[in-house]
Amino acid sequence: MNSGHSGNSDGVDVAKQLIAQGMRRQDLSRELNRIVSRHLKLNSSAEILPDPENRLTLAEARDTAGVPKPKVSVTMDAYTRAGLARSEEINREVLKRLGSNEVRSNEPYLSNAIIGGTARMGTDPRSSVVDPYQRSHQHPNLFVLGSSAHVTMPVNAPTLTIAALAVRTARHIMAT
Ligand SMILES: Cc1cc2nc3c(=O)[nH]c(=O)nc-3n(C[C@H](O)[C@H](O)[C@H](O)COP(=O)(O)OP(=O)(O)OC[C@H]3O[C@@H](n4cnc5c(N)ncnc54)[C@H](O)[C@@H]3O)c2cc1C
Repeated sequence: MNSGHSGNSDGVDVAKQLIAQGMRRQDLSRELNRIVSRHLKLNSSAEILPDPENRLTLAEARDTAGVPKPKVSVTMDAYTRAGLARSEEINREVLKRLGSNEVRSNEPYLSNAIIGGTARMGTDPRSSVVDPYQRSHQHPNLFVLGSSAHVTMPVNAPTLTIAALAVRTARHIMAT
């Protein structure tokens, strides 16, 4: 994905560097435009493998109401790391062929925007919370619709899947 000017090609960072070099006014504006208009960012995302150790549990610490705080445990598996390393090679090759004279790269990082999996879907009540129609194994009159039913989570855009599964569940409820 080309996600425009952010991260390594953040215009604010470039402006700070130029100001630190003593550049001001029209010279600053001209140089900033010259550099930033030539930036291109390539970004690759990967869905990490399902791992029972990636989980939400209760922490010892409590909030002001005395409710235990959530403890989130997440690590990135070797398969995903290898995939991201390969995608970085490809991105570097694309930038090279475009004639780039300076290429910078970020370390792989975990996105914190897409949350799910706390009521994971499955057919076995010992390893899942809801069935494939998002009906609670424990309480048959309870349906849990949303990203909590997902067993893995992409880096972006689960909302259409959430909506599609909700429609599927609604049809199932109406048919039973
Ligand atoms: C910064 C950010 C950017 C994102 N960008 C994208 C994107 O570009 N594309 C995409 O597809 N997804 C994106 N997502 C993810 C997407 O927003 C979520 O995956 C999706 O909203 C999850 O839907 P949900 O119904 O499971 O949960 P939510 O949307 O969180 O809905 C849960 C609802 O339950 C309510 N609730 C909670 N507790 C109670 C309670 N005790 N009683 C009654 N109601 C309660 C909450 O108020 C909330 O309205 C983004 C998320 C974030 C944070």
